[in-house]
Amino acid sequence: MNTITVENKYAIPFFNKIPVSIEKGEGIYVWDEDGNKYIDFTSGWGVTCIGHANPVIAEALLQQSRKIIQNPSSGLTYSPIRAKLLSLLSEILPAGLGHVFFTNSGAEANDAAIKLARKVSGRTDIVSTIMGFHGRTISTASATGQAKHRDKFNPLMPNYSFVPYNDFEAIEQIMTDNVAAVILEPIQGEGGVIIPSHDYLEKVSKICETFGSYLIIDEIQTGFFRTGKMFAIEDKGLKVDFMTMAKGIAGGFPFGAFAVSKDVAEKIEIGDHGGTYCGNPLGCAVSYAVINYLMEKRIDKNVIHMGDILVDRLKKLSANYADKIADVRGKGLLTAMVFSSKQLTSAVYNNCIENGLFINITQENILRFFPALNITLEELEEGLIVFEKSLEAALENRI
Ligand code: PLP
Repeated sequence: MNTITVENKYAIPFFNKIPVSIEKGEGIYVWDEDGNKYIDFTSGWGVTCIGHANPVIAEALLQQSRKIIQNPSSGLTYSPIRAKLLSLLSEILPAGLGHVFFTNSGAEANDAAIKLARKVSGRTDIVSTIMGFHGRTISTASATGQAKHRDKFNPLMPNYSFVPYNDFEAIEQIMTDNVAAVILEPIQGEGGVIIPSHDYLEKVSKICETFGSYLIIDEIQTGFFRTGKMFAIEDKGLKVDFMTMAKGIAGGFPFGAFAVSKDVAEKIEIGDHGGTYCGNPLGCAVSYAVINYLMEKRIDKNVIHMGDILVDRLKKLSANYADKIADVRGKGLLTAMVFSSKQLTSAVYNNCIENGLFINITQENILRFFPALNITLEELEEGLIVFEKSLEAALENRI
């Protein structure tokens, strides 16, 4: 049996699979088992921020795995590489977020933040945003404002409510002194790359302060230079109580983290949280290597430059097909094209794969461009040429 047959037979069918079996990658390229080459504009869902098979990651894995992967009694003992990563994070995290705990995924970080916000506030209610995405565990699905991720799993966790994103009045109206936390993304990623107005997050942060509620900022998709800055909230000077991270934090190694303010840290007690892996040395070594690489390479400059070129090119395309493309928007290398129909979106998506380009569908009429942050101009051009060809072919078929 070949790979596809085996996976189809034995894996739980959660996905509408793409019939391609990927064997290896390098930079923005991947190859299937038959040797066909593809360009990856998905970064494995925004994760492989320094490209596939980057030697920096291979080296960190090799060096650390030769020393130790998992500590005796895990988090109960100290780890030099964990301390090194914590020190690095202490230099780059937004002001006020001085204490960090490591997780294995983004959902796990959000789950812990919600759980701890309830505990330390002594309150029950969580406010989240429509079209927001926070994960697939039961508590993070409960916080996710998209029916397709929630409604099948009733009863969900109680005391969650939703407001439209980028609508400050809606939050103002829903706040009470029983709100433990407001959770939101600085830019809604899965929701379709929705960028709020410049003062929205600041106003939300202020109203949280007024009501004594915590603010959980989910930087899982936007963090680690995806939007050009280390964190999307970096220059906003917000008062944030929890910030969650994953994806780019370790370039593909399953890893995440949440950071908390001094006030929250002081209210946390021994035993409130934990986990078998909780910052295992292997994950810490990879994360340290990846963040260091991003900083040393001044990746922010590349992200802003490539992001501008990408949006510019997509906007020119959309001007040519104004009746078919409703919008192009993005920040850094988190960019989306919104189509006028679901059929056209899936036709373009399928053509891209057929022509050798992986791209994401986030919502049924939205494609997201999400390449590695160290993509070069030549690579971006190469991917865009495939995209344009795929779009034109879909339009010629009058979809
Ligand atoms: N939060 C945001 C903003 C995300 O984009 C995602 C994943 O796409 C998650 C949380 C969940 O992260 P994970 O898939 O690592 O559990």
